[in-house]
Amino acid sequence: MADTADFLGHAAAELARIEADGLTKRERQITGPQGGRIRVGGQGRINLCANNYLGLADHPALKRAAIEAMETHGYGMASVRFICGTQDLHRRLEQRLAGWLGHDDSILFASCFDANGALFEPLLGPEDAIISDALNHASIIDGIRLCKARRYRYANSDMAELEARLVEARADGARFILIATDGVFSMDGYLAKLPEIRALADRHGALVMVDDCHATGILGPKGAGTPAQLGARVDLLTGTLGKALGGALGGYIAGPQPVIDLLRQRARPYLFSNALPPAIVAAALAAIDLVEAAEDLRAALARKTGYWRTGLAEAGFELLPGAHPIVPVMLGEARMAQAMAEALDRRGVHVAGFFFPVVPRGQARIRTQMNAAIDMADLDTALDAFRAAGRETGAIR
Ligand SMILES: *Cc1c(COP(=O)(O)O)cnc(C)c1O
Repeated sequence: MADTADFLGHAAAELARIEADGLTKRERQITGPQGGRIRVGGQGRINLCANNYLGLADHPALKRAAIEAMETHGYGMASVRFICGTQDLHRRLEQRLAGWLGHDDSILFASCFDANGALFEPLLGPEDAIISDALNHASIIDGIRLCKARRYRYANSDMAELEARLVEARADGARFILIATDGVFSMDGYLAKLPEIRALADRHGALVMVDDCHATGILGPKGAGTPAQLGARVDLLTGTLGKALGGALGGYIAGPQPVIDLLRQRARPYLFSNALPPAIVAAALAAIDLVEAAEDLRAALARKTGYWRTGLAEAGFELLPGAHPIVPVMLGEARMAQAMAEALDRRGVHVAGFFFPVVPRGQARIRTQMNAAIDMADLDTALDAFRAAGRETGAIR
């Protein structure tokens, strides 16, 4: 009979295998606020791996809103929403998000991971179908697993395969069909083909759900995300407060009134998990006010992204094509990504190597992410560091 000692030995062996495969992720401690420049181990670094696209993570207006809300509304809620955890601020944020993003209403969660975990199970049953892009975020995959609907998958943005799955789901007798996709695929920076997806959904009587975590605040007029950028209506939209909107935490689902109302009755992470604290909610309201009007920041972000992409490509790095501020530098094996991250760290540039299981084996990369608040001079310094580190590790000649 296996005992606790065997179990701990099993965990240690698993860890040793992760280490032997070069897949161990190590956390470096930042001593200070998130930003275009950070402090790591007492030293300054240029930071190229935060989801802090508009540079709002340390913005004075957000900090002020959070502090004021703590004074007027307290620190914590100590309740889920339906017992005694709903303040005026929560409803204001839900309605503000919905108005901004063009939906009837929205519902808040502790994270977008929870929002995606909450969405599918209450809305769809065994007689329904979900068709999911193969590159969707882990939280969509997990959310679909929690739901009894039949599951179908199509290769990333393969519209012919999506249509085949729609036909298949109909032939299997599906009542409702929901297509689920990221708006921006987070490892690659590719945008979903929303107009084509919408047209296919309409042709086959399906609904469209988009997770716009890497687009809200960044893409489209007023930063309203991929549906606004690409001119496509979507039925359900999920997103995060943890990226461009100040980077703290929180997630939401926006959509038609009866769907949001039903989720409020049935979504398990909503019913059984604590309400967001007032400071976060108030700062998110301030963030939306800033972001909606921030065409200047979005223009700066696009300009810097173009400069950064061109510089890396001219240095000889292999990039994935695109225009999103996610700029992945493709390096092949995990060890190369780790060696590059380490060589860049020694040169004062903070990046993270991404490798299995976050991306497929053999497609390790450094995912750089542009930020409207990074100085042009720092971008030049970082390009010099990439060239030197690339030559040192053999990633470029
Ligand atoms: C970051 C991200 C999430 C998770 O959001 P959190 O609010 O951090 O839980 C979900 N989906 C996508 C596509 C993401 O990029």
